[in-house]
Amino acid sequence: MTQTVQHFIDNTFTAGSSTRTGDIYNPALGEKTGDVVMGTAADVQAAVDAAKRAGPAWATMPPVRRARVIFKFLELVRRDKEKLAEAITTEHGKVFTDACGEVERGIEVLEFACGIPALLKGEYSSQASTSIDNWTFRQPIGIAAGITPFNFPVMVPMWMYPLAIAAGNCFILKPSPTDPTASIMMAELLKEAGLPAGIFSVIQGDKEAVDAILEHSDIKAVSFVGSTPIAQYIYEKGAGNGKRVQALGGAKNHMMVMPDADMEKAVDALIGSAYGSAGERCMAISVAVLVGDAGDKMVPALAERARTLKVKNGMELDAEMGPIVTAAAHERISGMIEQGVQEGAELVVDGRGLSVAGHNQGYFMGGSLFDNVTPDMSIYQDEIFGPVLSCVRVANSAEGIELINNHRYGNGVSVFTSDGHTAREFSNQIEVGMVGVNVPIPVPMAWHGFGGWKQSLFGDLHAFGNEAVQFYTKQKSVMQRWPDSIAKGAEFVMPTAK
Ligand code: NAD
Repeated sequence: MTQTVQHFIDNTFTAGSSTRTGDIYNPALGEKTGDVVMGTAADVQAAVDAAKRAGPAWATMPPVRRARVIFKFLELVRRDKEKLAEAITTEHGKVFTDACGEVERGIEVLEFACGIPALLKGEYSSQASTSIDNWTFRQPIGIAAGITPFNFPVMVPMWMYPLAIAAGNCFILKPSPTDPTASIMMAELLKEAGLPAGIFSVIQGDKEAVDAILEHSDIKAVSFVGSTPIAQYIYEKGAGNGKRVQALGGAKNHMMVMPDADMEKAVDALIGSAYGSAGERCMAISVAVLVGDAGDKMVPALAERARTLKVKNGMELDAEMGPIVTAAAHERISGMIEQGVQEGAELVVDGRGLSVAGHNQGYFMGGSLFDNVTPDMSIYQDEIFGPVLSCVRVANSAEGIELINNHRYGNGVSVFTSDGHTAREFSNQIEVGMVGVNVPIPVPMAWHGFGGWKQSLFGDLHAFGNEAVQFYTKQKSVMQRWPDSIAKGAEFVMPTAK
């Protein structure tokens, strides 16, 4: 029996006014496991109405009390971490241990959001003029929405709603219809944590629901994570309708390996970051820039490891790589590999045609490795978002940096070297938002914020970290003068937040 994933509005599950549904699959089995309702403008309106009823009381509640709800939610997410991870693996395909890691990275943002009273502290100037004080503080923007991709169904929404809610806003999440179950599990946990009805809603669906969000005048801010063409669309349409927008897009992340690098560690790093989660990570490394003789040292070792990856149903605990998320993505990735061959790249390892015992209908594919890729090829230019690593050979670090800086994406990048000066120059000169030095995937911690450059981010404020607090709040400045104040009576009880 299959299940239908519904919206969550006013702390209640509902199919709303949706008449369309989408299919949910288990990619390891290649079987349909459920349906998801597709939201309409009326469903978005219902979520906005619920938010407008609940929002004013939530916005004026002392931040320390809002933080307590997030703290309780954090405990519940920890309690249900494996259930959430299992939901991720069965709908996305990534291996269970990686799915647990995804939940952990989301929890870090929750931990950060628990500090909201300190994060909302303002600035104060005493005696800005004679007997006048001036201070600034931040207030919630009202209703924010988040539109999220399939590849991190728990972590990416957690980049958004914990801080938005903790800052006193209501939040409407529109998750990917590919793997929507985690969204309603999180909604239930928020309810269990004591979040009042209406503060957090989930509207399932696709473009129809997204457009309703972008057109709704009561939704003041939109956070988006997904592919670049959609990010640009969201940014332009959202901003055109007067909203704040942060829209994180696609990526083509490079790792430059210098000849003086520890080759064994660089191979480990490349294998994990290129093939982990079947390459379906915005921070996956999809291009190895091999400097000088690093190429001849690395390619045979990479090929050996790519050929022997343990590709299995992600629920098997020794699996290193699970299936591709959908049959359509499998077909697209296979086509892009073929295109690379046609364009003259050397396909050292061909992951196509892999079948996994007992999972003949699953969307499996092995790791693919290309060598002698050049910048004009589509496998170099375009985001493949699959388990395909392209090696580009360059003569020196300057050539490598120039290559990377010329790419239209600028999400993440890494350098492997044993030379501090090379690493320093690389970090300074590279035109990419997140940089790793001897680190495979430089995903910043919750309190530092996350965002790429160039076509990887539209908007100016990053996801999570202090910039997200700024994004979900607006600054107010107060100038104040008082006549002599009147003394109050004595208070004998320790004052507490009420
Ligand atoms: P996607 O762009 O197809 O979808 C993202 C969201 O937009 C989903 O909720 C989807 O329902 C919605 N959407 C899709 N088409 C739409 C349309 N025409 N109009 C309005 N809304 C639409 O992305 P995806 O395939 O789910 O995710 C993979 C992409 O996300 C990759 O490009 C990856 O690099 C990117 N990504 C980026 C980051 C980052 O931090 N920069 C993080 C994760 C994923």
